[in-house]
Amino acid sequence: MSDALPGRKRIALVAHDSKKLALAEWADFNREVLAAHDLVATGTTGTVLEYELGLPVERLQSGPLGGDQQIGAMISEQSVDMLIFFWDPLEAQPHDPDVKALLRLASVWNIPVATNLASADFLVSSPLMHSAYARVIPDYGEHLSRPTATRRTDATG
Ligand code: PGA
Repeated sequence: MSDALPGRKRIALVAHDSKKLALAEWADFNREVLAAHDLVATGTTGTVLEYELGLPVERLQSGPLGGDQQIGAMISEQSVDMLIFFWDPLEAQPHDPDVKALLRLASVWNIPVATNLASADFLVSSPLMHSAYARVIPDYGEHLSRPTATRRTDATG
């Protein structure tokens, strides 16, 4: 199954505290590209980006308070097309399980992800940023139809 990513995409942005400045500078440098898309971010990251860019950013809950999970839910609903996640690999986060879950769902649903400055540069400079893209959405039919242990409703006795 595939889904056409429209030219205008919904981009989710997250940065851990030690990476917020780097994301803000990256976003400012790429403001023109980002302005052509819809932006959604975890709470504090969104506040920083709105201030830096002067563009509307849909702000979710702060990451440690559930924002990462909100983005994960959006990914699983196919309502986020791309994830830019400047995470800090040197510092344990109180919400490490959420961080892992977010990255996992991005893989589950095959959305493009950048986890550092270099990968974000490659993503944002791709010609696919400006055109429709037939993203393959993995078919999980087999997983969904796997046999599971259920109580038999027709059992007697
Ligand atoms: P924040 O969350 O944007 O609210 O700081 C980011 C994170 O997941 O740490």
